[in-house]
Amino acid sequence: MRQSLVIANWKLNGDLALLDSMMNGLSSQTGYVADVVICPPAVYLAAMQQRSLATATDSFKLHVGAQNCSEHTQGAFTGELAPQMLREVGCEYVILGHSERRNLYAETDALIAQKVATAQQQQLKVVLCVGESLEQREQGQTLDVVTAQIAAVLAADVDASQLIIAYEPVWAIGTGKTATPEQAQEVHAAIRQFLNQHSGVGEHIALLYGGSVKADNAAVLFAQPDIDGGLIGGASLDVEQFRAICSAV
Ligand code: 13P
Repeated sequence: MRQSLVIANWKLNGDLALLDSMMNGLSSQTGYVADVVICPPAVYLAAMQQRSLATATDSFKLHVGAQNCSEHTQGAFTGELAPQMLREVGCEYVILGHSERRNLYAETDALIAQKVATAQQQQLKVVLCVGESLEQREQGQTLDVVTAQIAAVLAADVDASQLIIAYEPVWAIGTGKTATPEQAQEVHAAIRQFLNQHSGVGEHIALLYGGSVKADNAAVLFAQPDIDGGLIGGASLDVEQFRAICSAV
């Protein structure tokens, strides 16, 4: 059975008060099928780990994730955070290759591949984001773009079987335009087939959809056969919305 996951990517949003209300709100309702991960800004990770331990029960724990990490483990890299530092404060997961990192911070496929390799060597579970721009979709390049982004990472020294991949069409992020369930399923199925051909791991890897997922469209997206959960931006900042999305898996 593949892992089901719902991951909150808070981006540059939130504060300790939201962390408290989110942790309390989510843990007051148990019985989620999916593993739930929250990725707040890095300064809140240690606080989140404390709260996660305090609210954990035998059947439920909120998992801690980071939004980025360095490709290095130490050295003169001012402002960077190494994967083992994230581990030390309780992180299990890290998001890498988000389109905002690719586009706003000029992260290349080669850099992302290095980050994935280093993060995995330090025992972080990597959520690798891939996705096409609107222009690329309109030119019929979606599957080529997405598989090339994955191929660049598989070419590095990474363990493909331990990857989680999030398909996030750039045109759907923060725009209110969600991919239709059929559009998302088509890309997810192609990613799974590509992973099978390249590393034989496609059937075992969790594939998440991200891009304007809300409480009212989550269930139909998550019902697609190759969609194993979601990577949620804006709606993960609202306790009720996010709780409903977690329950939709
Ligand atoms: P939105 O859910 O706000 O569209 O953001 C998606 C995203 O980028 C998650 O990583």
